[in-house]
Formats: sequence, C-alpha cells, structure tokens
Amino acid sequence: MEPVTSLNVGDYRHLASGKVRDLYTVDDELLLLVASDRISAYDHVLPSPIPDKGRILTAMSVFWFNLLAPVIGNHVVAVEDSRIPESVRGRALLVKKLDMLPVECVARGYLTGSGLADYQRTGAVCGVELPAGLVESDKLPTPIFTPASKAELGEHDENVSFEDVIRTVGKDRAEALRALTLQVYGVAADHAASRGVILADTKFEFGVSGTSLILGDEVLTPDSSRFWPAQGYSPGRAQPSFDKQYVRDWLTSAESGWDRAADTAPPPLPDAVIAATRGRYVQAYERLSGLKFDDWPG
Ligand code: ATP
Ligand code: MG
Repeated sequence: MEPVTSLNVGDYRHLASGKVRDLYTVDDELLLLVASDRISAYDHVLPSPIPDKGRILTAMSVFWFNLLAPVIGNHVVAVEDSRIPESVRGRALLVKKLDMLPVECVARGYLTGSGLADYQRTGAVCGVELPAGLVESDKLPTPIFTPASKAELGEHDENVSFEDVIRTVGKDRAEALRALTLQVYGVAADHAASRGVILADTKFEFGVSGTSLILGDEVLTPDSSRFWPAQGYSPGRAQPSFDKQYVRDWLTSAESGWDRAADTAPPPLPDAVIAATRGRYVQAYERLSGLKFDDWPG
C-alpha cells in the first residue's frame, strides 16, 4: 500500500496542518483529525513517509483514550462514522473542537533526551531540581512535570518552567495541568509496565471543553512518548526503544550523510529503515494494547 502524506477528504474545509496531522472543519463543534503517514524527527518532516503510520497512531490513541476514560475525558466523538470519509477510515477521528492550551504537557519518569541535556547543564529540568549523579536513562525519584512551549511549525518546542506555564494559562489552570499530566502518566505507565514496557516520558495536549480540561490531539503514541522494553533496561546508556529513536539514530549515523547542525533537509530513508520503523510502530501498538493491528479499520 502507498503511504499517505496528503489526503482527499471530500468537502471538508482544511483548517490547519501540523507536522503529522491535518485538521478539517466538519461543523461548528466538530473537527476531523487526520493522521498522515508523515514522520518528523529533529523538527523536520522527513521526505519518506512510513506506510500505515497514521492508522497505527490513531489505533494507539484510541486504545489509550478508552483506557484513560475513567480518569480523564477526551475529544473523541467517533472512530467509525458516516461523517468520516472512506478515504481516511482508520486514520481519522471525529473530534470535539477544543480550545487547545498552548502548553506541551510533558511527564518524565526517566531521564533522557532534552531532560538529560538540561539536567547535565543545570542540575534541573524545567526548574525541577534533581539529585546529583543521575545518568542517561535513570529512573527519577518521582515522575516530574516538564512543560514545553508549543512551537510554530518548523520551530523547536522549548522546555519552560512551571512559572512560565502560570504566566501563560494562570495559576489554577497550570496547577490542574501539572496534576492531570502526572496522574495520567501514572496510570499509563502502570499499564505499560503490565505489558513489559517502560513509559519513559510522554507529552499530552489538553484543551478546554466547557469548564473541564480534557485530552486532545494524540496520546501515548511512539511520536509523543518514549517506550522502552522493560527487559534489559539498564541505566547509563541509551535504551533500545519502540519509538522513533530508531529513525533519529539512523539520521545521525554516518550512513545517512546528514548533518543535523547544518539545518538542511534530511535525506530519504532507505527502504529497510522504512520497513523496520513501520514494524516498530506496529509492535508498540500490539504489545501495549494486546490487540492486532490487522483488526483495525481502514
Ligand atoms: P507536533 O505534534 O509534530 O509537534 P503539532 O502538534 O503542531 O506538531 P500535529 O500533531 O501534526 O502538529 O497537528 C495537530 C494539531 O491539531 C495540533 O496543533 C493540536 O494542538 C491540534 N488539535 C488536536 N486536537 C484538537 C482539538 N480537539 N481541537 C482543536 N485543535 C486540536
Ligand atoms: Mg501534535
């Protein structure tokens, strides 16, 4: 099957596109949120899409939205619905249109990525002081809220302090975001652990529906989360992962010939890297949900 990077969704008006998802207006209250097969890494959309990625991300988000429903509401109205065009079945969600809060709500239970880089420079992540001597992939004493600003397309999300979040959304809402982010992370990390997977960190986007905060966008996918196999976990080195770290690693390897610092477009991925990446996304979905991707619509 050909990967899908842009779509024909009938008569719906295109509202916005992010690096991966396209949004269309259905009516005053509803949007169509369509996950393409585009893949981004290091703030670039790569020239090679990953076949089925949009459907896999949608399947995963729906699995987690359902699992988390007793804890927090979400924007999903329907997965299979006559208002969803056949051309995007399985990769599109009919969702409630939300006022999205301009904060990337990140929870970290383990130290890696930009969290590790900040810690090595300052001893803290987003202003949260951490004990001395922590190493790559260490488990944190307790999960922490490490918000980031929501960057424009092509810009880099910047880690920000809790005070910055207060300035952006007010004190009550900032405290609610922190509490919800850590609560939802805890529930998801416990489920992942029961499936032999470490949820190292993850990002949520909350929106306002009436007076409540609910989950929007995607949740707990390999694009928004780091998933590590629990078996073989060993701090002090990078962990093998079910997420797109694999693609990041190829891009920064000598084989790709790409210079991340040069700010040029990344090269196409070799077929073997595309296939292996698709395999990892399917594996992450099946392992975490216990479901078969072949049973997903579309
Ligand atoms: P990236 O995730 O690659 O960092 P992004 O979040 O800007 O970038 P996408 O995830 O591709 O891009 O696009 C989804 C966009 O839709 C985001 O801007 C997100 O905030 C917005 N969005 C998601 N759910 C809703 C919703 N229910 N109502 C309104 N906007 C939404
Ligand atoms: Mg997003």
